[in-house]
Amino acid sequence: MERKGLLIVVSGFAGSGKGTLMKRLTGDYDNYSLSVSMTTRKPRPGEVDGREYFFVTKEEFERKIEDGGLIEYAAYVENYYGTPREYVEEQIAEGKDVVLEIETQGALKVKERFPDSILIFVLPPSVEELYKRLKNRGTETEDVIRKRMSRAAKEADTIEKYDYIVINDKVDECVKKLHGFIEAAHYTPDRNEEFIRSIKDDLEQLWKGEN
Ligand code: 5GP
Repeated sequence: MERKGLLIVVSGFAGSGKGTLMKRLTGDYDNYSLSVSMTTRKPRPGEVDGREYFFVTKEEFERKIEDGGLIEYAAYVENYYGTPREYVEEQIAEGKDVVLEIETQGALKVKERFPDSILIFVLPPSVEELYKRLKNRGTETEDVIRKRMSRAAKEADTIEKYDYIVINDKVDECVKKLHGFIEAAHYTPDRNEEFIRSIKDDLEQLWKGEN
């Protein structure tokens, strides 16, 4: 049975720890490829161009949109973020499960364009913990933290549109759970129509031979 690559979309509030989870998931198992997004945001200390993001100017980003080079994009707290098309298509064709770590507007667009994709929302154990994580990260000003928290309140409205939620308290357990959801999704009948059809055809042939 040939295994098709799936598009896995992961969202979560800023500070939910989804970045750490994705690095672990894609590092612990070899069926995953993590898509690198394009953004107009400035790199944070330690971020490398081409690894965390492709850091580009607003003009470069807009050109990419015009060229149809993004499968989705969105504006998030004063910057553009988008998913380059080429890598996603190439990896899916190779049978890899491609992980997109993107915000909710983009996630819903992906679901619309690729109904077969799996949407997972990462939640913090509590809002108090979320605020603490954002402050401790120390990479954003108080003003940006406030904007990200207010954005979280809006994003919370879309949770019900996701296929699964993951509560990020213990990283090891969460990574295993995530992998479990995705493995299970590979074995739904609608994602294996070809295989099921071939079994049915063979059964039919056999049945004919009996008569
Ligand atoms: P950050 O600035 O913290 O790296 O990312 C801000 C938000 O943008 C996060 O919610 C992140 O998941 C989201 N994001 C990152 N890349 C993309 C993308 O390609 N498309 C969309 N729609 N959102 C993205």
